[in-house]
Amino acid sequence: MGDRALAGRTAVVTGSTSGIGLGIATGLARAGANVMLNGFGDAAEIGRIKRELAALGARVAHHGADMTRPAEVAAMIEAAEAEFGAVDILVNNAGIQHVAPVRDFPAEQWERILSINLSSAFYASKAALPGMVARNWGRIVNIASAHGLVASPNKSAYVAAKHGLVGLTKVVALETAKTGVTCNAICPGWVLTPLVDKQIRARAAAEGKTYEAARLELVGEKHPSKEFVTPEQLAELALFLCSAGAAQMRGQALAMDGGWTAQ
Ligand code: NAD
Repeated sequence: MGDRALAGRTAVVTGSTSGIGLGIATGLARAGANVMLNGFGDAAEIGRIKRELAALGARVAHHGADMTRPAEVAAMIEAAEAEFGAVDILVNNAGIQHVAPVRDFPAEQWERILSINLSSAFYASKAALPGMVARNWGRIVNIASAHGLVASPNKSAYVAAKHGLVGLTKVVALETAKTGVTCNAICPGWVLTPLVDKQIRARAAAEGKTYEAARLELVGEKHPSKEFVTPEQLAELALFLCSAGAAQMRGQALAMDGGWTAQ
């Protein structure tokens, strides 16, 4: 994608105060898009992120919508439309994890993961689609996971939500197939963000290993490459999906996972 190819476009990226969402928001800002950030964090940290993105030449705002609350999700889309005039790109990225076998899995964690990792993408898409279809241009990029394609034990809610998100991606793509709006999913393998850092620490504590040993073991058992994927690499794929070259890519689940799901 050429420099500032997204100038004049507006992107909403959910869960963009950290990790993959922040990496994608930064890539979109660098490509010239206005960005509505979303996610939790202290005000000083969010202010710092806003200044960093604005320094790339983007117009930046933050909306604190809680992705468990449908009315707040819709209000976030309305706020972006009011602030920037449109929502052209929607990246449904916010997500959380909880690890436990089904029989011990807390019901409230099941509900929370389904609402943040799956339902919020439905509510945000529902709110953004009318404007995208009316303008005949839009890009919805759902951040699913390798766990949207394959399963692992102890991640029932996460795997169910991510498989569901891949399904939602296909339906939205089919419903918009005759328009300039596309919807695709990205399925990352392991990315070393706070979400995964927590799992490495839990593994190190449970198995009496160092953080470094647990980190290598975690990535090594899933990725033939033995390397983590980075937020910057995922941002490049999201930018491709926003480009003219991806106009006929519709309803796909694109893995970037160090070879995990090729096995
Ligand atoms: P992260 O913990 O670094 O960031 C999560 C973001 O979501 C933060 O900005 C947080 O504030 C926000 N968030 C959490 N709950 C929210 C809520 N209720 N409302 C609004 N925002 C909320 O996580 P990450 O690793 O960057 O994950 C981002 C996405 O990528 C998730 O959907 C995750 O499932 C997916 N993913 C991550 C990996 C990985 O290895 N890290 C792999 C595959 C997929």
